[in-house]
Parts: sequence; structure tokens; C-alpha cells
Amino acid sequence: MAKRSDVAVIAHERKVLGGGLDELRKLLTDEIHDELIWYQVPKSKKAPKKIRKALDQGAKRIFVWGGDGMVQRAVDTLAGTGATLSILPAGTANLFATNLGIPEDLAEAVRIGLHGTERKLDLGRINGEHFAVMAGAGFDGHLISEADRGAKDQMGKLAYVWTGLRHIQDDPAPTKITVDGNTWFEGEASCVLFGNVSTITGGIKAFDDAKPDDGWLEVGVATSQNAIEWARTLGRMALGRSDRSPFVQITRAKRIEVKFAEPTLYELDGGDRSTVRKLKAKVVPGAITVRVP
Ligand SMILES: [Mg+2]
Repeated sequence: MAKRSDVAVIAHERKVLGGGLDELRKLLTDEIHDELIWYQVPKSKKAPKKIRKALDQGAKRIFVWGGDGMVQRAVDTLAGTGATLSILPAGTANLFATNLGIPEDLAEAVRIGLHGTERKLDLGRINGEHFAVMAGAGFDGHLISEADRGAKDQMGKLAYVWTGLRHIQDDPAPTKITVDGNTWFEGEASCVLFGNVSTITGGIKAFDDAKPDDGWLEVGVATSQNAIEWARTLGRMALGRSDRSPFVQITRAKRIEVKFAEPTLYELDGGDRSTVRKLKAKVVPGAITVRVP
């Protein structure tokens, strides 16, 4: 029987990058001479099971082909295992990769995945699940993934903003936010965000100083009351420092608790989860090892 390598590929088969999965196999087998562990999934939700299977088969270097949703499933499964993650940014939104400087270029991403520097990075954890980019509530979960394609081409990154705006609730709800044991915000909030990296949506730096290796999560709350204020908030985020907006308060914390007066849908890394009255989030320092440029 052929010897098996410690390299595994977990691919979202509907995602596209460069010459596709055939080119990926070629690029990897140019350098890896033992049999690859290879799994394809039709949706990211199916990835964790295959990743665990790969780990059981001795995988130590996990190449993940997909966007932020796929990467989120991967980091949630790989956190604390010691396996290294190599990201092949094949999704619609590849914010974690972008924040780390991994380009949407297959050959280059493979090179980084095999030979890049191993970096230990923090993850956030919200209601029991890890995230790499951001999590929050009151913000449209489909802001990124369902941005109007035509508008996206015409207006570029700003289209994301406007797609999000159209969906934002214009009735802020009473919200209480506790950071590291102290009440930090109590009032009407339209949006609560936790960030692990600075750029959390198409080109918008929502958290100017966020670093995924400082042991802190960035916390933001938007108090905007209507769409015009939101436009100003997002405009400021796009143009300058987010913490100078009068409608956004930002701090940094190890652990956060949020209580909503009404059941509220929360999301992480661009994917919707469930409707809850309470969010518990924390930073998990050095939870994942990623190959970076
Ligand atoms: Mg941080």
C-alpha cells in the first residue's frame, strides 16, 4: 500500500480558484510524493466530520479550500489540535485569508500553505463555537455572501455596505454588554460586533487596531437609530478610523456577555446561527496555527 502523507485537503467542491481542484492536486503532488488525504464536501457544514477523519488518519497539515464559512468550520474543528491550517481562498468572501496576506492566487496560496511561516493565532469563541474573523448580532448575516452581484461589479466594495444597509433593522433594541465582568454598555443598540481581525467586511476596517495574536477581542456596539446614521457610520468606517464615529463605541476584552431584550439572530464569520437572548464570547489565545506569508 502507498505511504500516506500528513497533508490533507478538505475542499468545498462548489468553490472556485485558479484552475480548480485538478490544479491544486497537481501543485501539491509536485512536492508531496506520498498519497494525499483528500475529502470534498458539498457544503461547509459537512467539513468538520471530514477534518476529524483526516486527523484520525494522521493529517498534520490541513489545506482548506473555500471561503470564510469553510475556514470557520475548519478552525472550530482544528482549535487546540496542533495541526496547521493552510488556507486556499476559493470563496466569495475570504476575509481571514485577506487579513493574513494570503492572496487569491492558487499557486501562491499553495506555496504559502507548504512553506509559509507557522503563526499561532487567536480565535474568538461565541456560544461554544470558534470564529476567525468576526461575530455579532444585528448585522446582516448575508452582508457578504449575498451582495448583489451586479452592484458588486459596478460599485466594488461599497456594494457590500449598501446591501447590508438595506437589511439593517431600523428599530434598535435594549441591549446590555458586560466586558470582563463590568457593565460597558447599556442602551439601545442596533448592532454588536466582536472582531478578531481588523477588516471584517468588503474593505471596511471595522476595528483599526485589531490583531489576531494579542490575546484580545475587539468589541463594538453601534447605537445608530436609522439608515442615514448607519450610512454615516459605515462611511466613516470605510474612510477613516472606526472609533471616531459618534455612533460606534469600541473597546477590547477577554470575555463579553451580551443580553438582548428581544430574541436576536447572531452570526459568525458571515454565517447565520440561531436566535438568542444572550451571547457569551471570549478570546482563545493561540488556538490555531496557520501558515502565513
Ligand atoms: Mg486581538
